[in-house]
Amino acid sequence: IIIICSSIFIMLSITASYLLSKKMMEPIMESWNNQAMFVENASHELRTPLTVIQNKLEQLLTTPQEKISNKFEHIALSLSETRRLTKLTSDLLTLTRADSAETQFTKTSIELDSFIQEVCAPYMEIAESQDKHFWLNLEAPIQLEVDKDRFHQLLVILLDNALKYTSEKDSVGVKTYIEDHKVVLEVRDSGSGIEKENIPYIFDRFYREDKARSRETGGTGLGLSIAQWIIRIHNGTVKVYSDPKKGTVFKLKFPK
Ligand code: ADP
Repeated sequence: IIIICSSIFIMLSITASYLLSKKMMEPIMESWNNQAMFVENASHELRTPLTVIQNKLEQLLTTPQEKISNKFEHIALSLSETRRLTKLTSDLLTLTRADSAETQFTKTSIELDSFIQEVCAPYMEIAESQDKHFWLNLEAPIQLEVDKDRFHQLLVILLDNALKYTSEKDSVGVKTYIEDHKVVLEVRDSGSGIEKENIPYIFDRFYREDKARSRETGGTGLGLSIAQWIIRIHNGTVKVYSDPKKGTVFKLKFPK
């Protein structure tokens, strides 16, 4: 009886420790898989512009000078792909630092309306040059504790997208107000919108609803992942309301 009992006890202990180690390993394996997928996607995204640049340079080098009719086009394309690479590497660096919690934040109190006006000034000019209407509806005075650089980056990501996904005569705007003792910041546009079934994925790394259009406009598919991280470090939340017929609203809420 003692031998049987001890064998059962040993078998149970082995099974329990196996199950426990499997359960403990699951989050490690998941994080490892996510990391591997991130590296794979990043490599793919980096390789695309590099291939274009390499092809263009090789053509320029191997074709006799007198036969190159579109030299300017080759150089212009290489330059725009180089800009993409610069943006991509800087976005990748931001996200890698965000993952390792390496980034330091310095939070200071800002007057939200004047901060937004300052960030929006160049966008108003861009909108005008693209024949779009840019509006501001800012409640004053609202004070908010933010890391200025990161908060600036957050607005830039949302405004860049709003302008990117709108056409002539469309409108883009920023609204702030207080709701349930929280500070609300909305970036609204009357552009192409997002299909309902795609909304849950827009914050995923490298996700683009329309890859070709995003590439054309210099998108990396990383902007909203960075925006989501910046919102999180400011203890905020984000909701997205979008309709391909009406446009998109990014509604951000921050503690006062
Ligand atoms: P991208 O560099 O492609 O703009 P983002 O991470 O900033 O990457 O956005 C992810 C995707 O979300 C975009 O490719 C686009 O499909 C969608 N999106 C983001 N903002 C808007 C917007 N204001 N209007 C329509 N679609 C948007």
